[in-house]
Amino acid sequence: MKALEKLGSSAYMLESFGIDDARREAELILSFCLEKDRVTLYRDNPLLSESILRKIDEILQRRKIREPLQYIFGQTDFHGLTIKVGHGILIPRPETELLVEEAIKLISNLKSGDIKFRFLDLCTGSGAIAIALAKAFPDSDVFGTDISEIAIKYAGENAEINGTKNVTFLQGSLFEPVQKLRWDYGLRPAFDLITANPPYIRSSDIAGLQPDIREWEPVGALDGGEDGLDYYRAIIPEARNYLDEGGALLFEVGAGQADAVKKMAADAGYLDSSVIKDYSGIERILIADMKREQKMEIQDENVCMEELDKKYIWHPFTQMKEWREEMPVIISEGRDCFIKDIYGRWYLDGVSSLWVNIFGHRKKEIDEAIKAQIDRIAHSTMLGLSNVPAVRLAGKLIHLLDASFYPSSLSKVFYSDNGSTAVEAGLKMAFQFWKNRGVDGRNAFVCLNNGYHGDTIGAVSVGGVDIFHEAFGPLLFKTYKAPSPYCYRCELGEKSGDCGLACLAEMDKLLYAHSGEIAGLIIEPIIQAAGGMITSPPGYLKGVRELCSKYDIIMIADEVATGFGRTGRMFACEHEQVVPDIMCLSKGITGGYMPLAVTLATDDIYNAFLGEFQDLKTFFHGHSYTGNPLACAAALACMELFEKESVLDNIKEKIAVLGRWLQEMLARPHVGDVRQAGLMAGVELVRDKKTKESYDWAEKMGWKVAYQARDKGVFIRPLGNVIVIMPPLSISLQNLEKLLDVTASGIMYATEERGL
Ligand code: PMP
Repeated sequence: MKALEKLGSSAYMLESFGIDDARREAELILSFCLEKDRVTLYRDNPLLSESILRKIDEILQRRKIREPLQYIFGQTDFHGLTIKVGHGILIPRPETELLVEEAIKLISNLKSGDIKFRFLDLCTGSGAIAIALAKAFPDSDVFGTDISEIAIKYAGENAEINGTKNVTFLQGSLFEPVQKLRWDYGLRPAFDLITANPPYIRSSDIAGLQPDIREWEPVGALDGGEDGLDYYRAIIPEARNYLDEGGALLFEVGAGQADAVKKMAADAGYLDSSVIKDYSGIERILIADMKREQKMEIQDENVCMEELDKKYIWHPFTQMKEWREEMPVIISEGRDCFIKDIYGRWYLDGVSSLWVNIFGHRKKEIDEAIKAQIDRIAHSTMLGLSNVPAVRLAGKLIHLLDASFYPSSLSKVFYSDNGSTAVEAGLKMAFQFWKNRGVDGRNAFVCLNNGYHGDTIGAVSVGGVDIFHEAFGPLLFKTYKAPSPYCYRCELGEKSGDCGLACLAEMDKLLYAHSGEIAGLIIEPIIQAAGGMITSPPGYLKGVRELCSKYDIIMIADEVATGFGRTGRMFACEHEQVVPDIMCLSKGITGGYMPLAVTLATDDIYNAFLGEFQDLKTFFHGHSYTGNPLACAAALACMELFEKESVLDNIKEKIAVLGRWLQEMLARPHVGDVRQAGLMAGVELVRDKKTKESYDWAEKMGWKVAYQARDKGVFIRPLGNVIVIMPPLSISLQNLEKLLDVTASGIMYATEERGL
């Protein structure tokens, strides 16, 4: 029956090649194959007898096809396996079979004892190598990666056909999908063997390939670049990070390439590379091994790095005594929404590198914008000069604000370098505005309990997170603190939902009593981020705007954390169509690439600073790196990406997934409250759900969750008892789900002591 099916499909194939007598030829070929119980009809296959080869040659000549006949069957026998192949998938060849045989030999000699091996097969194509290894070592974990979606599909089917359960196929380029795995690596992701059958034909030779090869085997799976060696260049150095001690890299090379590839392996620090010849005497398989000492050298380098860190670095917001007792995680690289430490261990960046990253790490367009700008100029001052990217970006930002608020009255851009400085500039602007207008006595600011605006003294003055700010009390300027719109723990003892926004009424009273003293009011719109991801109830922000207008107070919206899509809109103020008088932006403005901030102001504020030189109405404020051209170039690329990638549309589904997960979390016995604004979310953990009793700060409950997640390859950073979820906006749904799964199990483990 099988043979008949093969016959039917081969006849069909032959017909599609334009062969008239397709059925007869198919029968002939099939009979050869059945006779030999082989379907691989390569000329250099030693199993083919002279007479069969002659007959095949005849057929081939007639048909002017000189290459792989196994296409005809859409199926090939490979190392005792049935491997289905099809359009766009590289056919496993005899050389590949040789590679498998060598790999099995090598592994069998590599380690003894009851060890679970881990293998990785790059450019897996039909999955033949990975499946053969998985079969040979049924206790091993085998991973195969390929950039082609079709290949991954076929590879999966082939695993099924051959009954191999210990192999996983992942789509993506080379090591990329492996980085995203979140199984427990131990210290680093270590494979015992990495195999690869990468593209190795020179680009210029691709055109000369038989047309049917070009049709069947995707050019991408063959094209190794100008000299055919591009993939080795990518694989050989990178594989070092993924090989366990004593592990080896085994890959197929093209004819005549062995020497060049051997040199590459030596340059990359592999101990030894031996070459194995194929049946026709061509050097085909290269085995590269790493010296144990070399691995140790890398280890030593890392330990040295850790010691240097502990010796010389004072980390922000970090108890250094504790830091020095623990093993620091030192990041060496990032890609997409993952960051990698010096041991090669990858973490999902669950807090966007502290709320800054939007499009992932190493985003091509931003990388290129910075590189292009570096070829022009890296920095020049904004004091008395201007620069091209800063001018362009200012125009772009105002345009963006106009589009978001149709239109906004924010029309002037003042540059600085980070969130705190953006706030500092905003506060000083508001203060001097009244002075320049000749109004005295407006020396105080209104701010909110639980507000956070940065760490410089002005920003601390308007801060409301006691743990961070209390110590500096004597240094701070005068403020009036309005209640935080923290419904879960209402300061006014009201019940959420039926209070009629009592906190707003309280603010009204405050402004009424002190408006003559107040220069401005500063607020984090929609969500108080660092204070614990506290979302304000609907109508609150609009109410604040109305109060500021009523009492003629400058409204400063600190959108440092919320700006650039985090809350689901470009700016959080948009949710209630509120246009502030001053707006502070930073963090996401460069996609998380470079320090940059802007303080935007209305014409009204700006005009109050105009005057004669000697009037001293000038805004005497600014930093050395203000409006840095590299940072502005990154920001410009970032703004373009927002449009090009329809970011705000694409995050809708992710916001919904996050929302559903938060509701699930709310059912857990130690989750008191969940809060969300777009892709910013907080899960508040409590000791007692009924009484809302918090865990003691010293218990570090949030950190317990974070450490659990870290062990599972996810980096999150809590705010006390609040678990923060704030991934790059570009995170895939799949990775978002990973982030949420790992965080959920961390929460259960830490608060319920449930096993993971
Ligand atoms: N404002 C807000 C709302 C913030 O969340 C932050 C930082 N978390 C800042 C200001 C300060 O920004 P930076 O750390 O860049 O100084």
